[in-house]
Amino acid sequence: MNKPLLNVENLTKHYAVGTGFLKKSIPLVRAVEDVSFSVEKGETFCIVGESGCGKSTVARLLMGLVQPTAGHVLLNGTDIAGLRGDELRASRKSIQMVFQDPYSSLNPRLTAAKIITESVENFERLGRKQREALAGELLTKVGISPDAMHRLPSEFSGGQRQRLGIARALALNPSLIIADEAVSALDVSVQAQILNLLMDLQQETGIAFVFISHDLSVVEHIGHRVAVMYLGRIVELAPCEELFKTPVHPYSEALIAAAPLPDPTRVRSEVPVEGEVPSPINPPSGCAFHPRCPLAIERCRTSVPRLVRMTDGRFVACHVRAPAEEGFAGPTAADEHLQRAVP
Ligand code: ADP
Repeated sequence: MNKPLLNVENLTKHYAVGTGFLKKSIPLVRAVEDVSFSVEKGETFCIVGESGCGKSTVARLLMGLVQPTAGHVLLNGTDIAGLRGDELRASRKSIQMVFQDPYSSLNPRLTAAKIITESVENFERLGRKQREALAGELLTKVGISPDAMHRLPSEFSGGQRQRLGIARALALNPSLIIADEAVSALDVSVQAQILNLLMDLQQETGIAFVFISHDLSVVEHIGHRVAVMYLGRIVELAPCEELFKTPVHPYSEALIAAAPLPDPTRVRSEVPVEGEVPSPINPPSGCAFHPRCPLAIERCRTSVPRLVRMTDGRFVACHVRAPAEEGFAGPTAADEHLQRAVP
C-alpha cells in the first residue's frame, strides 16, 4: 500500500492558561486530544464540529504554526515537527492554507499579481514579465481574467477575493491545501461556486484538501471522508455519504439532526441534544459528550471510549453504539494506519 500523503498520529495540543496557585496546578486547555487520521492524494478530508472543538488548532498543527504537545504530523512519511532548513522550506511549499476571511487575509496595498506570486518570490526572484505570466496563469486557473492582475483587493467582490486566496495557495504547487472555514464568510450562491472551483482544481491536479467547517451542508457537498470532533477528540470518522445517511455516534446524529436539510425527501432523525459544549479546561470525565447524550450509561461517565472500527469500516468512539470487547479497547487510529480509504 502506498504511504498516505498526510498521516496524523495521536496529535495532542494543550495550552497552559493562567499561572496557577503557587505554580502547582496550571490550568490546561485540552484543545486537541489524541487525534489520528490520514489523508490520501486527491482526497477531501473534512473536519466538522461545533465552535471550540479544536478544528482550527488541528489546522495550525498541520501547518506547523504551533508545536504539538504530543503526537506526529507526517507528510509523505516525514515528521514535519523535526524538520529544519531546506527540508522545512520544502514542506512549507507542500502544504498551503486558505483562510476564512477573504477581506482581512489579503494585503490591501498590494496588487492581485503581487499577492498571488509573493510566496514564489520567497523562493526565487521573479522579473516583471515572469511575475505577470505566473499571475495570469494562476488567475485563469481560479476563474478571474488576467486583465485584473493590477487591481487592489478592494476592487474585487468577496467571492473573487476568495479566488485570489486560492490562487495564492496554488502558486507553489502544493500537494495539500488546508481550508479553514474557507467559504463560511460568503453568500450561499458564491459558496457553491467556490466549492465547485475547489473540486475542479482537485480533478485537474490531484491536490488534497483538509476542509474544516462547522457547516454540514458544505461538507456534504465537497467531502470524501469526514471526522466529527467533540471537545478535542474525533468521535466518528466515516465516508461522507455514510455519515450523512446513517450517523452512528449520538453527537454526529445530533449535529445532522440540527442542520438544515438540502434534500427535502430525507428523513430527519430526532435526537435531542441539550446544553452547551463544556469547557476544554475541565472536560467531563469519561466520554466528554455524556452530559448531553440521551443514550449515556454509567460506563460513559467513567471511561473514555476509544475509536473502534465498525463492520462497515467507519470508526466510532461510543460505549453504547460501538462497544469495544471486554478487555480489548479496539484499534486506535494510529494502530491501523487508520481510517484510510481512497476516495
Ligand atoms: P474551533 O476551531 O473548533 O472553533 P479551536 O481550535 O479554535 O476550535 O479552539 C479549541 C479550544 O482551544 C477552545 O477552547 C479555544 O479557546 C482554545 N484555544 C485555542 N487557541 C488557544 C491558545 N492559543 N491559548 C489558549 N487556548 C486556546
